[in-house]
Amino acid sequence: MKTKTLTRLSPFAALLFALLPPSIRAQRAPSTPFSQTKIQSDIAYLSSDALGGRGSGTEGNALAATFIALEFRRFGLRPMGTLNQNDPNAPLEGKGYYQPFEFNAGRLVGSGSTLSVTSKSGSSALALTGDFALSPLSAAGKAENAEVVFAGYGVSAPSAGRDDYAGIDVSRKVVILLPGVAKGYERFGELRAKVLSARDKGAVAVITVGTESESAGSRSSFENTSDSGIPVFILQEKALDALFVSGGKSLATLRENTQKGNAIADLLDLKITFNADVKKIQKRTQNVVGFLEGTDYNLREQVVVIGAHMDHLGLGGTGSLDTSGKPAIHPGADDNASGTTGVLMLAEYYAKHRPKRSLLFMCFSGEELGLLGSAHYVREPIIALSNTVAMVNLDMIGRLKNEALIVGGSGTAHEFAGLLTEAETGQNTTLKVSRSETGFGASDHQSFYTHGTPVLFFFTGTHEDYHKPSDTANKINAGGEAEVLNFVRATVTKIANAPFRPTFVQVSTPANTGGARSFRVYLGTVPNYSVEGVRGVLLDGVREGSPAATAGLKVGDIITRMNNLTINSLQDYVTALQQLNPGESVAIIVRRGAETLTFNATVTERMNP
Ligand SMILES: [Zn+2]
Repeated sequence: MKTKTLTRLSPFAALLFALLPPSIRAQRAPSTPFSQTKIQSDIAYLSSDALGGRGSGTEGNALAATFIALEFRRFGLRPMGTLNQNDPNAPLEGKGYYQPFEFNAGRLVGSGSTLSVTSKSGSSALALTGDFALSPLSAAGKAENAEVVFAGYGVSAPSAGRDDYAGIDVSRKVVILLPGVAKGYERFGELRAKVLSARDKGAVAVITVGTESESAGSRSSFENTSDSGIPVFILQEKALDALFVSGGKSLATLRENTQKGNAIADLLDLKITFNADVKKIQKRTQNVVGFLEGTDYNLREQVVVIGAHMDHLGLGGTGSLDTSGKPAIHPGADDNASGTTGVLMLAEYYAKHRPKRSLLFMCFSGEELGLLGSAHYVREPIIALSNTVAMVNLDMIGRLKNEALIVGGSGTAHEFAGLLTEAETGQNTTLKVSRSETGFGASDHQSFYTHGTPVLFFFTGTHEDYHKPSDTANKINAGGEAEVLNFVRATVTKIANAPFRPTFVQVSTPANTGGARSFRVYLGTVPNYSVEGVRGVLLDGVREGSPAATAGLKVGDIITRMNNLTINSLQDYVTALQQLNPGESVAIIVRRGAETLTFNATVTERMNP
């Protein structure tokens, strides 16, 4: 029901309205059932310092979830989860609104790391932080009296004409590598690439040289990096020099040889005993889920999901664009207190205006860490995905500018384009809606799209405060959000009352766009960011017409090897991609169910949009 009295102004009021300055006119006459004041106050609370930036696994995030659950209860939504906000094993028996889950929150360096050297002249222990530190790439691990090999820059790229390991076996040995790389081999110069080569050749650990600060180690850098699979030590120059001397060699000579490109790999006459003390951090957080049953006896078996992520960056770190790098509250008023508020406003509205199909309102956590909450939900759905006819995602809808609204996913169901047009014309909205067809995108709708659910994604665009402490509530355009929500309401109502459910479409994505911009090459896979305990990279998507699709890769495949690199994690995969040149072919080994298959893909040049 449209709020008639509010929308149709008398001619005198219209004149008055026209005379108002634009900033006031922005506080547009309500043509929407959604209250700007309520929008502003919910966003103000969710982005307040008290919630500390709602980082997943933090107190502030849990407070935000409690607020959402209390609002769901106030609107009369049915709880679909547990009351135990913090217990990932609690049965979802429908007493509470929470779907808790555990996630890998990085690693922590323990204080138990040791490194000692035994040579003809006796044994000596190196000092932690004085002489050495663990690299953020380091895994936990230990060994006693391991032999030591010097391998120059540690580049192993026979196909590109260089192999610093030629002629020497490094299995069960410690490998010492120099930072840097020979001219022309820059794409093999990243430390992770070198460590992966040493690991794949059976080395038990890697030692390299680092600056004072590197060898002092920074705790934070462990939180944002996945390990390389073996221990990695960073030694101070003087400590490494002493080590070479005790092994009867001169670092300066070996460095010279390396730079000259002469045969390099060399066994040092000493043994190393070490322990790398690294601990995995597991944290807990929760999705918040509330149900509203539809009015139609048959259609209410089907559900439309209305979702938004409620987490943000907390005090910064991974994903922050704040150049100061100092810990600071990232309020995330637009990202995504605005979307969370949108879910609350729509829940309150539909509680009084139930459509034929049922609605599931959901606020996800862990989105900023890689869509963790929505990925967890589609792995463990509370309502079967087969009964989920569409997912509507609200992420950053609080900064409408010049009426410009972006709607993504318009191609993910046959009916969506027509339906959006009807909603636009039906609302005679002033919004200027631009559409994009794909269901991919760095937000929670992607988790549903890659599991075969039609999705729509509402977004008012990025801005200079994105992922910074300056994304504050006073910059929110509450009137604009009320307008956007009214358009979302019109769209959702059409989907929820339509006689037929939307028909899913796998959208063919235009060639080599989307995905991370840091690559020079394009393969066309959409890796899963969140699944835990999988060795390799699980594919959530393979873009239609891409080199990966042409080669035969499929959704669900787990990439375990690329050329001569074993792929244990997403970062290993990134490293392997960065070693390729456009036009080169890459041998990709995948696990598909019980089978191990090999595909050859020819990567192309990436066109950055
Ligand atoms: Zn967001």
